[in-house]
Amino acid sequence: MAKPMIITVDDEPQVLNAIERDLRKQYRRDYRIVKAGSGQDALAAVKQFKQRGNAVALFLADHRMPQMTGTEFLAEAIKYYPDARKVLLTAYADTEAAISSINEIGLDYYMSKPWDPPDEHMYPILDDLLSDWQATVPQPYDGIRVAGTLWSATSHTIKDFLARNRIPYQWLDIETDPEALALVEASTTEPRLLPVVFFPDGDILVNPTTAELAEKCGLQTQATAEFYDLIIIGAGPAGLGAAVYGASEGLHTLMVDKDATGGQAGTSSRIENYLGFPKGLSGADLARRATAQAKRLGAEILVPREVVEVRIEHPYRYVVLDDGTELGCRALIIASGVSTRRLKAPGVEPLTGAGIYYGAALTEAAYYRDQPMYVVGGANSAGQGAMFFARFASKVTMLVRGSSLAKGMSHYLINQIEGSENIDVLTRTVVTEAHGSNRLESIMIRNIDEGNEQRVECPALFLFIGAVPHTEMVAGVVERNRAGFILTGSELVSGGRRPAGWTLRRDPYLLETSVPGIFAAGDVRQSAIRRVASAVGQGANAVNFVHQYLKTV
Ligand SMILES: Cc1cc2nc3c(=O)[nH]c(=O)nc-3n(C[C@H](O)[C@H](O)[C@H](O)COP(=O)(O)OP(=O)(O)OC[C@H]3O[C@@H](n4cnc5c(N)ncnc54)[C@H](O)[C@@H]3O)c2cc1C
Repeated sequence: MAKPMIITVDDEPQVLNAIERDLRKQYRRDYRIVKAGSGQDALAAVKQFKQRGNAVALFLADHRMPQMTGTEFLAEAIKYYPDARKVLLTAYADTEAAISSINEIGLDYYMSKPWDPPDEHMYPILDDLLSDWQATVPQPYDGIRVAGTLWSATSHTIKDFLARNRIPYQWLDIETDPEALALVEASTTEPRLLPVVFFPDGDILVNPTTAELAEKCGLQTQATAEFYDLIIIGAGPAGLGAAVYGASEGLHTLMVDKDATGGQAGTSSRIENYLGFPKGLSGADLARRATAQAKRLGAEILVPREVVEVRIEHPYRYVVLDDGTELGCRALIIASGVSTRRLKAPGVEPLTGAGIYYGAALTEAAYYRDQPMYVVGGANSAGQGAMFFARFASKVTMLVRGSSLAKGMSHYLINQIEGSENIDVLTRTVVTEAHGSNRLESIMIRNIDEGNEQRVECPALFLFIGAVPHTEMVAGVVERNRAGFILTGSELVSGGRRPAGWTLRRDPYLLETSVPGIFAAGDVRQSAIRRVASAVGQGANAVNFVHQYLKTV
């Protein structure tokens, strides 16, 4: 496969040679470095590369060039390569121009001259942009292929698992692609058992479990030790925050997740309100970055492994995994979050995965291009889902139980929805039935006030209908409220009385549960503010309390 390119443009030969030298030094192995002495020359080359089918990963252009500025060049070049990352090389006085380029052309970064030493001022930035490009832009295919039928729930599970773990794959639909069908028939004696997963090394897995798939894909599913300073249940933003701080502060840290790192946030199409990302970022991107960071700092991450039980043997805490493995620790953080409540209506269960999806199901949504989609729910996640689907659906209809969106949704999202031509909002409306022989075809919807029901054609229904906490594994161990959310800190002290069984002379710390040394962070807590930033902050903060607790045992 031809290497993707990095194209750099500068009219000053000395600067151009210096950039080329530094780029070659770091990236020559994986990328072809191409230089040009003007925007016009670079554009001519870009057009040729496009015709030949070459990939361009990054443009690095000097802003100050006669005839065509760097910004003008980038604006033209991205017409050919919209996914390439764009960096402007600027002098100190060009900062204003660079900032306006962020808005005008979606500039990814502006790098000030001089960039010496490149190890500090150039490579970390470009590494980040290039790994982002690699992770998000489809490359010519030589990886894992999944063959199945679009409407099978088992195929959906496997695709969802791969997507959530950010493992690239190519989907082969055996109903529409005769070559894919022939491939499946030639590879298995039971072609009705789907999906079939083909690996680049020639291995094939037929209808695998996610654990089998994880192992084959190189995810860590077994712990390397039996005992840790800190175990974290759940690798959403709260768990990842705790893992980064725990590991970086010297705690031998293990994090366990039953599905994928990133949690709910990992399924978000765009997170606009996370500090430091002015253009917003996708949940998958955030999850990928945070996972890499936690691993680099030394945290061990097991995926997919579910914690099914938590046990206390003073002063230690033990978690039991779904395969029976028992792991001990000195302190435990529960960051197991919440998941979408299930819709209980006739027909929904059998069609889940075949037109009905919980959460954003980004991989599946793309199959409904130019078709009508329905979104159930009135909170931010539903709003984001609707905005995302509206990019390619013929029409998105939001079904909201409440009388307006204002109750549960951020103002900026309501504005975006109101400004979208192809999103309709039906308030005081619920889904009462789902119909379809082997995939969703229609739903019954009812207006709660008027009581009248109608059947509407509906190929795709996405559900965002409230949250249920994942706390079964600590039932009877730590105090929870009636809905199952975990109580922490002052919530456990009432009228000066500490929780039952609490023997210490101090009150529980802010994020501590009713059992000393067991902490909770993120959405799983009773009083959680359901935001990525607060989950991350609580994860980090919980580690601070872990240190305080460990000093006393
Ligand atoms: C579609 C969507 C869009 C969103 N967009 C935004 C946004 O734009 N901005 C914003 O601020 N917030 C947003 N949110 C909310 C935000 O994602 C959550 O508040 C945040 O993810 C909570 O983080 P958490 O770590 O507490 O829990 P979660 O993200 O729920 O993560 C919990 C993790 O624990 C794992 N787990 C559960 N039980 C077990 C077990 N027994 N064993 C092992 N692992 C277990 C789960 O698999 C999961 O990965 C969005 C939520 C959704 C669903």
